[in-house]
Amino acid sequence: MKKIHALKAHFAEQVYPDQLGNYSRRKLAELALQHGTPTVVIDQDIISAQYLQLTAALPGVNMRYAIKALPQPEVIEHLNSLGCGFDLATSGEIRLLQQLGISAQDAIHTHPIKKDQEIKEAIAFGCRFFVIDNSHELDKFLPYKDQVSLLIRVNFRNQDAVVDLSRKFGCELTKVPALVEQALHSGIEIAGLSFHVGSQVPSPYAHVNAIEQCLDVFKTMPYVNWQILDIGGGFPIEYLGPCPSIQDFCAPINDALQSVDTHIQILAEPGRYIAGPSAIQLLSVVGKAQRGARTWYYLDDGVYGALSGQLFDHARYPITTLREHDLTQGLKPSVLAGPTCDSIDVIDEDIVLPELEIGDLLVASQVGAYTLASATEFNLYDKPKVLWLSGEKQLHSDKPAS
Ligand SMILES: *Cc1c(COP(=O)(O)O)cnc(C)c1O
Repeated sequence: MKKIHALKAHFAEQVYPDQLGNYSRRKLAELALQHGTPTVVIDQDIISAQYLQLTAALPGVNMRYAIKALPQPEVIEHLNSLGCGFDLATSGEIRLLQQLGISAQDAIHTHPIKKDQEIKEAIAFGCRFFVIDNSHELDKFLPYKDQVSLLIRVNFRNQDAVVDLSRKFGCELTKVPALVEQALHSGIEIAGLSFHVGSQVPSPYAHVNAIEQCLDVFKTMPYVNWQILDIGGGFPIEYLGPCPSIQDFCAPINDALQSVDTHIQILAEPGRYIAGPSAIQLLSVVGKAQRGARTWYYLDDGVYGALSGQLFDHARYPITTLREHDLTQGLKPSVLAGPTCDSIDVIDEDIVLPELEIGDLLVASQVGAYTLASATEFNLYDKPKVLWLSGEKQLHSDKPAS
């Protein structure tokens, strides 16, 4: 065993807390009995708490929830009821807002690369603010110049981010003046600058640096009617390792934002921070086999399902068993695998576990962001059922989303 991490740490140190998220173990067992597994439980109260904590940590910043993190209708509706706006990127995300009767007033279209048809649909929806990062994209707005106002997305590379988004989008800071010139020349309004320093960043200094550099741009081009500074997402949550509190993380960002002119609106586009902690997943052991030195446990969901973030988002989720085990003895080298017939569908190897039995329940936490959103139906396994709860009170349950 090269590395004994995750489960070992989880089992050996903070084992078997009475509560998982907002739930008692008894309640989770009840839910599993009632709804079967795999089931993802999303908690409205945690969505509220995360939104309110982030809002409190960034006073004066208006939130635009990045829909792609967890596009569950209940999450969107609830955030709307709390006064949160939306960061949308596709026509599908627009249709979701439309179906929920949510207007474009507090929505911003943030995809730097779009088809003309998508621009048309966004404008028809009522979107005014769009993001560009190059001159070809700017040209696409010529036919709509009276209806739109653009943000230029600037690229600040961040090797420290778990997901570096600046490789794919954003222009160099030095390209901003030429884009502004081109826009002004074409009669297209430039409203501000945006950036995304990467997702799940370990420290706030990438944000701070990006804010300072954007403010420099504002200063060197005072003839532009700068109205918006959009500081993107990236706010980290705790998976297996520790992570700073949101107050500590945001403190230096707040300091940097003190220099922003009061007439400039500051936006943030949190996805992970709001959605991540809101969901846990209930899984069952479906099969077990001894293969070489290890016991393989086959679960009823895996990396093709709601743990897809393990592949796409490079996340590792805390996993524990619902049943309490004696952890002082009998820990064995084990593997947790998903159900599909593909060998990549392994959740964790090189771990030690107590002896599990077929039918045992496991709970994965922090699975709200970039998980269900990218789950597939590979092998024609249904996606997990989704429950929408407020604490222990059930508000709604879904058929597996398709
Ligand atoms: C995905 C995305 C976000 C959300 O990022 P998080 O790190 O999840 O907060 C925000 N803005 C844009 C443009 C994105 O693509």
